[in-house]
Amino acid sequence: MNKDKKIKITPIEYGTVIDHIKNGHAMKVLRIIGVLDKKMDSIVSVAMNVNSSMGKKDIVKVENIEIKSDELDKISLISPRATVNIIRNYEVIKKHDVKLPEKVKGIVSCINNTCITNQNEPVEPEFDVIGKDPVTLKCVYCERDMKGEEISENVL
Ligand SMILES: [Zn+2]
Repeated sequence: MNKDKKIKITPIEYGTVIDHIKNGHAMKVLRIIGVLDKKMDSIVSVAMNVNSSMGKKDIVKVENIEIKSDELDKISLISPRATVNIIRNYEVIKKHDVKLPEKVKGIVSCINNTCITNQNEPVEPEFDVIGKDPVTLKCVYCERDMKGEEISENVL
């Protein structure tokens, strides 16, 4: 296959490329890494439903920013197979897989309506990661388990 056909996203000089995001999850990835909230003037590109050897995927490209790895690890909650490429001078200088953190705080809201974190109290939602495949979270306050779509639909 020719390279131009395969890679739908143009190379960047400096920044971060997040590849192999589960298709349909690019916007949630942007929310997790804070691109949607922060006042940011970097160029952000999103490609969705790109064909790859492992099925359809999304790709997110953020120019002029090297996203911190602890930030990127949060992506593993909704897309465990995502890979991260740090680009400098058009070259990939660092490539790593996201890894699941042991605790998750303030990224996902609890699915239990009666949980204290959903009662307008100043309590930040917090979960222990109790399973990897599929990713399973347990609320530290109400002990409710959440997995799969329950997690991706409740990303704050
Ligand atoms: Zn809870």
